[in-house]
Amino acid sequence: VLDRLPVGAVIAAGDGSIEYRNPSASALSGTHVGVLIDELVTKHLAEAVSGGHSGETIDLFGPPQRVVVVHAESLPNGGAVAFVEDITDQRRADQARTDFVANVSHELRTPIGALIALADSLVGTEEVEVTERVVGRMQLEADRASRIVEDLLELSEIEAGVERDRRVVSLPDVVHDAIGRVAELAGRAGIEIVYPGACRGEDGAVELAVNGDRSRLVSAVGNVVENAVKYSEPGGVVHVGVRAADGWGEVVVSDEGVGIPRRDLDRVFERFYRVDRARSRSTGGTGLGLSIVRHIAHAHDGSVAVESIEGQGTTFVLRLPLQTEVEMARAESAGSPPEPEGTV
Ligand code: ADP
Repeated sequence: VLDRLPVGAVIAAGDGSIEYRNPSASALSGTHVGVLIDELVTKHLAEAVSGGHSGETIDLFGPPQRVVVVHAESLPNGGAVAFVEDITDQRRADQARTDFVANVSHELRTPIGALIALADSLVGTEEVEVTERVVGRMQLEADRASRIVEDLLELSEIEAGVERDRRVVSLPDVVHDAIGRVAELAGRAGIEIVYPGACRGEDGAVELAVNGDRSRLVSAVGNVVENAVKYSEPGGVVHVGVRAADGWGEVVVSDEGVGIPRRDLDRVFERFYRVDRARSRSTGGTGLGLSIVRHIAHAHDGSVAVESIEGQGTTFVLRLPLQTEVEMARAESAGSPPEPEGTV
């Protein structure tokens, strides 16, 4: 049983000498911080041998950093057993959760604080013009708070694996709908969106059908196109393309906007990460859009990648596995018919 235990177990005799070490403990000893772990285990075994129990949690600085818990208990035969557990992942998850709660509170505090201040400023105001202006700003802040909550809900639903309606959907139709959602914003910002429709890929596939949740896919593509518009200068052009490559359907969205500095490229998919906080705020961003896009891509066994040159523009590529004809037939016979035509 000890040999198969995922937690390290080390047994010492009454004189403190090590009698047994299970494979999990040996694996921990073999890491770059193994010497430190062994020292800790020996120390706590010695203390437990003299009666009672002993233990500690220790942060071992890497790289990579590790958090290890050692806990030793005396045994009836006068010896002791120590359990060693690497809780690095658990600690990281705890930290991510704490950071997330702090971020959410901070993000919501801004619009809510503004709403309180604006409401206060209305008390006793009789001037219609002032009231209208303040109420207008209150609507903007309330919209902002509501968008954050909506995005958080969408994110938690995707993370929880809540499936809504999986069916065979046409990728070009998804892109068409997504662009439709952003068209008004683009018009107001003076930005042209160019979308020639689907083109034939290297493998000749034109079907471009994927198995997925249509509204989520529209949301993912819509987020990327919306960003391309938001981070472009007036008069800019956003190119959107759909193509097939090696069994994948790719949606490519390129802009000629502000671009993303190289050091931020890996981080833009993190929740609430923004390169330019002021710009994101002024365009009504929640900092959750790309995180949602990545989650949707992963939930569909796909991926999303970004390339950018600061000051020149950015290209996002969303890749989703294409449905083969066999899979499509299977999906149809399983009662998930392809979408009716004319839904665009
Ligand atoms: P936001 O709501 O702030 O747009 P996102 O999660 O959608 O949040 O994007 C995260 C950050 O990535 C943005 O704040 C912005 O700094 C950067 N970003 C995203 N798309 C683009 C783009 N097309 N061009 C330049 N920067 C972008």
